[in-house]
Amino acid sequence: MRKKIFASIAISSALVLLLSVIFIVTSLKSSFSDTLEEEIRNETIYIANGCEASLSYSYDSGIGYLDSIPLDHSRRITLIAPDGTVVFDNLIDDVSSMENHSKREEFIEALSQDFGISSRQSSTLSTKTIYYAKKLSNGYVIRISAEEYSVSSTVGMLAGVIILIVVIGAFVAVVFAKFAAYNIVKPINEISLESFDEKNIIYEELKPFYSKISSQKKTIKKHLESANEKQREFSLITGNMAEGLILLDKNATILSCNRSAISMLGIGFDNVSGKSILNLKHASSFYDTITNALKGHHTEKTTSILSKTLNVISSPVLTNQRVAGAVIIIIDITERAERDALRREFTANVSHELKTPLTSISGFAELIKNGFVLPEDIPDFASRIYDESSRLINLVNDILRLSALDENNKIYEFKPCELYSVSNDVLRALEHTALKNDISVSLIGNAKCEILGVHDMLFEIIYNLCDNAIKYNKKGGSVDIFLEKTDNEAIIKIKDSGIGIPKEDIDRVFERFYRVDKSHSKEIGGTGLGLSIVKHAVSFHKGKILIESTLGTGTEVTIIFPSI
Ligand code: ADP
Repeated sequence: MRKKIFASIAISSALVLLLSVIFIVTSLKSSFSDTLEEEIRNETIYIANGCEASLSYSYDSGIGYLDSIPLDHSRRITLIAPDGTVVFDNLIDDVSSMENHSKREEFIEALSQDFGISSRQSSTLSTKTIYYAKKLSNGYVIRISAEEYSVSSTVGMLAGVIILIVVIGAFVAVVFAKFAAYNIVKPINEISLESFDEKNIIYEELKPFYSKISSQKKTIKKHLESANEKQREFSLITGNMAEGLILLDKNATILSCNRSAISMLGIGFDNVSGKSILNLKHASSFYDTITNALKGHHTEKTTSILSKTLNVISSPVLTNQRVAGAVIIIIDITERAERDALRREFTANVSHELKTPLTSISGFAELIKNGFVLPEDIPDFASRIYDESSRLINLVNDILRLSALDENNKIYEFKPCELYSVSNDVLRALEHTALKNDISVSLIGNAKCEILGVHDMLFEIIYNLCDNAIKYNKKGGSVDIFLEKTDNEAIIKIKDSGIGIPKEDIDRVFERFYRVDKSHSKEIGGTGLGLSIVKHAVSFHKGKILIESTLGTGTEVTIIFPSI
């Protein structure tokens, strides 16, 4: 803007300067011209008067007078006879060589009207000769001429001065234009659009412009605020999503990537926007779904990244029937996949566990049916069938218990339960087994060890642990239950002096159907589900279970419940 103002002022000033120079030169020229004409006229009259006076005492028609006056060479004085013959010319010695002037305009006019005036341009047009003629009483005509320079010649002669004036004028114009442009633009530059106030505008003409800017500013601010609000909402929603969400443009460049996606892909840095997803190492396993989505096809894939099972769903984003990008949703299905695998394994195990006693029962019954068993052996076979069916019943009961615990939607009522009395009930229920196995049992601890829980489940926990402590014990061994209460915990310890568990098996005893010594466990009626039920029930009560065991010495199981 400043440049434009500067150029306008400079050009205008230069134009004004030029026009002024032309005007001044032309005016001067016209004034010179008038003065010159006046001068020639006066000089002609004066010299004509001189000639007239000389005619009274001389018969040379005034030539003698003309010779006698000192004449300036800037004027040409000519005496012309009535027939047009030049008889005197102050600039030409041999007047006889001069052509006849009878056709000259000023001469003809002077003859008829006493005075004659005319002017003629030179061949180069650079000068104009002005002629003034006066008729004398003897019929002769005295004529004076002078040269007048044309405008261009005058300008040419004054070129030096004009150039000097123009240069100085141009310099002054440039300085002034610069200064003026700066002064015009300065108040505009000083207006702040941030703290904009219409009162501060010194140029009236700019008011509509600033009003428009002001209203547009308000609109932009509103749009910006609403866009920011939407962005915040989007970030809040996507940031708290458990699913990973990645938005891509049509070149597979990441536009947005939420926190879940970053952690699932193990990216390790937060800002991946602007990077190509094809450069992310762990995304390589689902590149095909991305390229498919960018071709306009919805694609789903289950893949494994960083030991997690992920379900990747890629969908194209279409605008005007064209793919503008893709949305990728990543769902962590590790738990579901593990649960499915566990369920499959469980079903296989259950079938296997049920099949074994059923095969035995069916085998024994077939032998009896076909008469291959002697009558005296029948009670023994019947006892084996009884044992196998008991095992089967135990197994089915344990499976039912486990599936009841697995059913998350089943509502249990939590009530204050006294662990001492529950443990006492358990010991009473196991009295016979303990006696049979020659195991001494004891209950030591606080009689006021109360927690909030489901009574039957707590009974089951303590029963299973004590049952194991008796089952996997040695003849004459012991099982001790210790109860302890702290400010916020209720602790129950079941310690036995039994066979113990090998170190490498300790972590696996809570797995379903896991048994350290399969044949021994079966022999003593174990199903391999007891500790799984215990673990499940403890975690249902928000408790912790710890197990310590030394092979050949004994096992100690500790359960910590949050107390009331
Ligand atoms: P089971 O019905 O076979 O006893 P559990 O789930 O209760 O199944 O126990 C899993 C395995 O852990 C048992 O087969 C046994 O080998 C081992 N075990 C559990 N408790 C004890 C213990 N107190 N002493 C030694 N081994 C134990």
